[in-house]
Amino acid sequence: MWDVIVVGAGVAGLAAAEMLGRAGRSVLLLEARNRIGGRIYTWRDSIFPIPVELGAEFVHGRPAVTLRLLRQGGIGLIQVPETHGLFLDGRVQAIDLVQTLRPLLEQLPAPQAPDCAFSKFLEQTLPGEGMAATRALARIVAESFEAADPEQLSLQALAEDWRVRGNETADYPQFRPIGGYDRLVGTLYRRLNLSQVRLHLQTVVTRVRWEPGRVEVHARQLGQARVFQARTLMLTVPLPLLRGDQAPALHVDPPLPEPWRKALAQLEMGAAVRVNLCFREAFWETQAALRALAFIHAPDESFTTIWQPLPLRVPVLLAWAGGPAARRLAEWPEEEIVQEALRTIARLYGVSDPGCYLVSARLHDWQRDPFAQGAYSYVRPGGLAARRVLSQPVHDTIFLAGEATDPEEPATVTGALQSGYRAARNLLATVAGVPITPPIA
Ligand SMILES: Cc1cc2nc3c(=O)[nH]c(=O)nc-3n(C[C@H](O)[C@H](O)[C@H](O)COP(=O)(O)OP(=O)(O)OC[C@H]3O[C@@H](n4cnc5c(N)ncnc54)[C@H](O)[C@@H]3O)c2cc1C
Repeated sequence: MWDVIVVGAGVAGLAAAEMLGRAGRSVLLLEARNRIGGRIYTWRDSIFPIPVELGAEFVHGRPAVTLRLLRQGGIGLIQVPETHGLFLDGRVQAIDLVQTLRPLLEQLPAPQAPDCAFSKFLEQTLPGEGMAATRALARIVAESFEAADPEQLSLQALAEDWRVRGNETADYPQFRPIGGYDRLVGTLYRRLNLSQVRLHLQTVVTRVRWEPGRVEVHARQLGQARVFQARTLMLTVPLPLLRGDQAPALHVDPPLPEPWRKALAQLEMGAAVRVNLCFREAFWETQAALRALAFIHAPDESFTTIWQPLPLRVPVLLAWAGGPAARRLAEWPEEEIVQEALRTIARLYGVSDPGCYLVSARLHDWQRDPFAQGAYSYVRPGGLAARRVLSQPVHDTIFLAGEATDPEEPATVTGALQSGYRAARNLLATVAGVPITPPIA
């Protein structure tokens, strides 16, 4: 009998296992994939001059928990220049992201005001030609950055996020971990107390039977049925798997109590498609105005943001689609998705055939990935309290973690890390009186 079974070895599961193992608890960590890291997925090959991030790329702001871990792993950060362009009416103009959004930020509702869909707010605010750029950019923030459908996105949740980012941009820089995001995953793994934590890869949890103080976890491990038992359970799988949106779902028996099920229904899984493109040469560098722009936003394209990995000067571009556009693209064959990214790049950078410079393209289909089923979560109208509900223990037996359960930095690596440590702390508090298990033989 294990003290804890942790399901999912993304950063939330690894962080929890690290803390629990160090506290002397026996931990069985079950992961469906043949790798750890989940939605942090760094690819390396001999063609791309830099590590290719198929999942998370940026560290947003200066989050203490992430910075501490990066320091522990000796991983440096490189700051991303905040130089943005907007492609409207066939030309790119340089913009100040926050200043362009300012009229919108000033009209955000007070925290106590009733919630509604972001699309409704956008229809009613900022009318007129003079506000076209602000409206276009606001849609990009919702669809591209939040990976959300504006019709389903809570205005209050977005407002909460913007109050931080919009007012503190000077202190809200973006960074990339030098050498690839998976170095952070490696650091977490190396910090596990392996005398207390056992990791099983390629183990898909299909069913959990539970009663207060006892859980039975059913899994398929390389085709074999396995059953594991523990006193407590930590579930860190992405939102759609918890909710049973599509196969393979993880059945919880009996189902989670009503407040948790209601909270799960108040969240939504966002969609994103990111294409990493490596070219023979950086053909955009010949145009001084474009050369300096790290990000170009294109509200009328399927790929609404294209960026280059500045300050590094390498012949690589990233094409990003989020929300409804990403859902549409995800239905297409990979080759067509790449062609669509190239068509957008042709229009933005004014080159007739960027495909003739293309050396390699890489993407990962997160929407059809059975163990992610999307990119990251967002809040539906009226669901602002949902993440806080999910972060509470269920009868001191089931503990939920993962980016969707973090009320402070959801949808990010930092949120996932925080959620794992928070759930581990809650768990340790509930088992404080239970004797420590001896190390695994
Ligand atoms: C394209 C993309 C870009 C992103 N960009 C950024 C960014 O720039 N900055 C940022 O901070 N965040 C970004 N994110 C979000 C960030 O990657 C996630 O918030 C974070 O990695 C989630 O960690 P997690 O541990 O909560 O979930 P996950 O990493 O998804 O871990 C959950 C684990 O559970 C496993 N699992 C699922 N089902 C089962 C099962 N039945 N049995 C056993 N195991 C199971 C999965 O395989 C997975 O390893 C991005 C995400 C995507 C997809």
